Amino acid sequence: MKIALIAHDGKKADMVHFLSGFKDELKHVNIDLVATGTTGLHIERAGFKVQRLLSGPLGGDAQIAAMAAEKQLEMVIFFRDPLDKHPHEPDVQMLMRICDVHNIPLATNPAAASLMFQQLTSRF
Ligand code: PGA
Repeated sequence: MKIALIAHDGKKADMVHFLSGFKDELKHVNIDLVATGTTGLHIERAGFKVQRLLSGPLGGDAQIAAMAAEKQLEMVIFFRDPLDKHPHEPDVQMLMRICDVHNIPLATNPAAASLMFQQLTSRF
């Protein structure tokens, strides 16, 4: 089981804060984390083991979309920054579309991600 994690620059601190809130629960579940490059770096520094892909603007979102299309992902947590512009917006849209095509849970803010994580960790 893999969970993909992506956060735009303005949301990286939120991602670390969110994950840290589930640190104990995550220890008890057999979950691999995968993240876009810079998001992954922040997550690593917070003490998590994570597979780092390319940075988002260099194709990391597209790599995660490919994993979603191949059904390798249990869920995608993508903290988007709605107040900023992104050069890779087409990739962002593509990733969200692929999640919908394959019915993969996608959370784009911490409130939704918390609900999904609570459900996930209650299964174990
Ligand atoms: P990053 O990419 O983790 O490499 O910053 C995230 C994104 O902007 O999609």
